[in-house]
Amino acid sequence: MNPHGMHIAQQSPEAALAALGSSARGLSAAEAARRLIEFGANQVTAAPRDPLWLVLLREFSHFFALILWLAAALAFVAAYFDPGQGMFELGLAIVGVILVNGAFSFWQSYRAEQALSALRQLLPQQVEVRRDALTLTVPAAALVPGDLVLLGEGAKVPADCRVVEASGVRVDMATLTGESRPKAREAAPDAEADPLAARNLLLAGTLLVSGSCTALVFATGMHTEFGHIAHLTQTAGEVESPLQREIRRVSRIVALLALGLGVAFFAIGHFVGLPFWANFMFAIGIIVANVPEGLLPTVTLSLALATQRMAKRHALVRHLPAVETLGCATVILTDKTGTLTQNRMTVRELFFAGRHHLAAKRWPRGADLHLRAVARFCHNLKFPGDQPSGDPMEIALWQFGGPIPEPGPRVGEIPFDAERRRMSVISRHEEGGQYLWCKGAPESVLPLCTSWLEGHLAHPFDAAAQDLFRRAQDDMADRGLRVLACAWRAFPEGEAAQEAGLQLCGLIGLEDPPRPDVHGAVQRCHGAGLRVIMVTGDHPHTALAIARELDLIRTPQPVVLTGDLVRRMSPASLQLALAAPEILFARVSAEQKMLIVQACQAKGEIVAVTGDGVNDAPALKCADIGIAMGLSGTDVAREAADIVLLDDHFATIVNAIEEGRAVFENIRKFLTYILTSNIPEIVPYLAFVLLRIPLPLTVIQILAVDLGTDMLPALALGAEVPHAGVMSRPPRPRGERLLSWPLLARAYLFLGPLEALGAMAAFFFVLQGAGWHYGETLAPSAPVYLQATTACLVAIVLAQMVNVFVCRHPQLAVWRFPLFGNRLLLGGLAAELGLLLVIVYTPLGNALFGTAPLAAAVWCYALPFALLLGVMEEARKALIRRWL
Ligand code: ADP
Ligand code: MG
Repeated sequence: MNPHGMHIAQQSPEAALAALGSSARGLSAAEAARRLIEFGANQVTAAPRDPLWLVLLREFSHFFALILWLAAALAFVAAYFDPGQGMFELGLAIVGVILVNGAFSFWQSYRAEQALSALRQLLPQQVEVRRDALTLTVPAAALVPGDLVLLGEGAKVPADCRVVEASGVRVDMATLTGESRPKAREAAPDAEADPLAARNLLLAGTLLVSGSCTALVFATGMHTEFGHIAHLTQTAGEVESPLQREIRRVSRIVALLALGLGVAFFAIGHFVGLPFWANFMFAIGIIVANVPEGLLPTVTLSLALATQRMAKRHALVRHLPAVETLGCATVILTDKTGTLTQNRMTVRELFFAGRHHLAAKRWPRGADLHLRAVARFCHNLKFPGDQPSGDPMEIALWQFGGPIPEPGPRVGEIPFDAERRRMSVISRHEEGGQYLWCKGAPESVLPLCTSWLEGHLAHPFDAAAQDLFRRAQDDMADRGLRVLACAWRAFPEGEAAQEAGLQLCGLIGLEDPPRPDVHGAVQRCHGAGLRVIMVTGDHPHTALAIARELDLIRTPQPVVLTGDLVRRMSPASLQLALAAPEILFARVSAEQKMLIVQACQAKGEIVAVTGDGVNDAPALKCADIGIAMGLSGTDVAREAADIVLLDDHFATIVNAIEEGRAVFENIRKFLTYILTSNIPEIVPYLAFVLLRIPLPLTVIQILAVDLGTDMLPALALGAEVPHAGVMSRPPRPRGERLLSWPLLARAYLFLGPLEALGAMAAFFFVLQGAGWHYGETLAPSAPVYLQATTACLVAIVLAQMVNVFVCRHPQLAVWRFPLFGNRLLLGGLAAELGLLLVIVYTPLGNALFGTAPLAAAVWCYALPFALLLGVMEEARKALIRRWL
């Protein structure tokens, strides 16, 4: 490992730094740039994926494909026993179908994959690194061995590092070892050289659950432990979503139905005395016609497109199944600060010396210097330039505190955590002695105080004083201000810093205005039957005031529960409390948030919950949809979430729910569309068998519709953008089936028969025009026969072209949807028409599909039937709308 044969874990921090040619100043920028070229980017290249040929092969060997192969094989068998009946050509055609269809699915899953991997690039991890003794923020990919990184609570470790300086570091190594109990890490040398066990190593991909540290990078990218693992094992593939499972179920049903129909028709044909092999061929045709070939790839693609649209609207989906779970969400548990509000704080008011003071630009006269010192020095800000960066609230306080003389160098900190709701900073006085500056939620700070300041006078913090401050807090909180209490104490050198016996300096009220479009988003949630419940760490009064401002709470007496109460309630009583029409949770810690999630779930709700901190991870994992903040959140929260909000904005959640709902709708539109054309494909065959007329539509022509003209318009339906209507209905019950009876009835009993009517009419129109009379048989190659089947095909395709429009919604009228709202749809239609013209009017099309050019009169005859389908369907929708 190094010239002395010692592992980096066994060396002292100084020796480790030296061994990697680094120092406490970090690398120089030039050296970092040089090393980046030498060692490469700090990225774990994805594990080698399945070879392309295997992926391609899979497209030809799934369930549908197998059915089609079987059909092709049967056709070849038939051709062998009964040559000259076109069975050989049929077999070839089916093989062609499998190939075209496989290539098409391959292309679609490829596109879906591309879309998803593009999304992963959207949220690069940022790391603070020390170079040339300056602290910079760089993408994790730019780290090189020798870099000094600064990691804080909630960070994901970006590379394998040796801890150089640490305070209270505990790390969760579940990604490497599967063990999620956090382990302590410190800077001291450790004899242990096993990277997983050494107490001073932090490995890439693990999570810092508490503390902060400076650490020296010693391995990056594929050279990290994580990189080794990634090399050995396949990254776990996307889990199959409930929707995908449902699709699989639906497609099996439909395929088995096709098989059953084929067998049944074969039996009927046999019964009415059709020649065996001809009958056999029709049965195969029926099977092929009814297998919904494009279904699976379309679902994947429409999920992927939805995630892409969500990303455009700032919601990054980490797990594909979350897209549709979102569509079923019934409750959103949301944070307040930064999600509902702007997290842009300004100091509005002060309370000191027993009175309220409006906070103007300048610090009010007579204000105690100690209060000012807390505002100015008690924080965790960083100063990369001369402007502070960090918590917006602390920035506001720092700015408001203004330049005042430093009380001495900062020597320690008792960090903020969401359970304690306060923090302290310790500074050392030049003339000896130390100060402790404390700020936090009044409930947390007031009990630690023993005196309070009025001007320069210190009074005992007795019951009357407590009451005075409590009332002041309530007063400010009722006006929506976030209230902080500030306190301090002096203590001798050498004594340990303690948050006790403090002197209360005053209260500071900060304003954090709501985000402008949250009000509208809340309105949309109400329209969509979604409950929005605020769950905040802030004071109940502040929370309530903001909730009222946003119309989250409209009744005069809402239920307001604090985290303490939640903890003491039994699960049953919490569940009962949730039945209240309006409820709000305040002063809630992460653990209690989890209890609330579980209580909602016990009520049968589908819960989406937001979170940003390390402690939020369990609640995010436990909820049906965990939503992490992309801007303010920790890496830990992001790793636990299903969705990351790139802008931390509540309205983004609502947009994502809208997209989630649209996915389900789109697949239904798609299903309705492709199932409809099955009827006009079966009816001709029934007529042929039962009425003893020439077969109006040949098997090859069926394939031309299912796998040719229908394909692109169907795909376009899968890619529709959400319609405004999806947010004016209550959430879909989770158990609701994709293939519902109303959907089947609409396709098979209404739209399908209308289409079949046109198809049969067109067929007879041509026959009759040529003087055909009932009972007359026609040779398969007779020009009249070729034209008549062509007319049947044209009528079906024309009707499908109208159908694609009415399928855009089961109840709303077509004209409510902008024609140009879906470009893919128009493109699909153009392709459909083009293909039809090729089939009807080119010698090649004629030869392949057994068609013949048609006179304009036939088109004119078929068109009204297609329009009739549109009119009838719109009339049906209008009736339904009237009734509902
Ligand atoms: P929210 O749900 O609004 O995000 P937090 O959990 O962030 O609430 O904060 C809860 C409470 O902790 C705040 O109301 C405030 O009183 C206190 N608090 C928050 N940040 C700090 C801080 N940096 N220093 C001291 N106290 C804080
Ligand atoms: Mg917070």
